[in-house]
Amino acid sequence: MIEIKDLHKSYKTGNSSLHVLKGINFSVGEGELVAIMGSSGSGKSTLLNILGILDEADSGSYTLDNVPIKKLNETIASRYRNQFLGFVFQSFNLINYKSALDNVAMPLYYQGVKRKERNEIAMSYLEKVGLASHAHHLPNEMSGGQKQRVAIARAMASHPKVLLADEPTGALDTKTSYEVMELIQGINDEGKTILIVTHEPDIAAMCKRNVVLKDGLIIDDVMVTQQRANSYV
Ligand code: ATP
Ligand code: MG
Repeated sequence: MIEIKDLHKSYKTGNSSLHVLKGINFSVGEGELVAIMGSSGSGKSTLLNILGILDEADSGSYTLDNVPIKKLNETIASRYRNQFLGFVFQSFNLINYKSALDNVAMPLYYQGVKRKERNEIAMSYLEKVGLASHAHHLPNEMSGGQKQRVAIARAMASHPKVLLADEPTGALDTKTSYEVMELIQGINDEGKTILIVTHEPDIAAMCKRNVVLKDGLIIDDVMVTQQRANSYV
């Protein structure tokens, strides 16, 4: 599903340059649930943004569902993003003046889906995340966990091949974090390929595979043998 080879990325600010990714090799098969870990500043978001075609590597190769992702103009990049990827962020990134239903339906609007069908699909995803009763609530009328569920429903509504989540539980308390992770596990159980950036070991333990970044390289890549679902009860 994802294949990256010898990926490098530097940021240039003024006269200085920071080499963040120093040759990342990594592949992810269909149906995996991978946690990308590492300390603050280790390049987790940088890597996820490249995987999400929100940013470009300086060198190396990236293949997504057999499509080589090279330097793309913004039109093609956004087509690939819509076609392949769903995003979930730490701060939810919902549109504050739109209802939960409208937030979930938004990507479908950009795909040209008609209003009635959009709303039906959006409602079915809100049902999946247990929030049909909150369809007409605004984001500020929902808890953090509920907002993240809406964001997950929105990410799933356009049927991405891969779901990318950057610290999806970073703004949530422990119990709510586990609940959101259980939802993510359930989506993965249905076959979705999911990559999650987290620095929380308990969250990583709920994934099937843990990849650890340090000093621009992958220093560890292990399968999780015992998943700790329900560990908060
Ligand atoms: P955190 O856990 O704090 O979110 P991270 O592992 O996600 O950290 P990145 O955001 O990938 O880390 O950043 C890696 C390094 O690159 C950091 O030193 C950061 O300051 C730097 N960096 C990130 N984005 C930029 C940018 N747009 N311009 C310049 N430097 C950047
Ligand atoms: Mg980050």
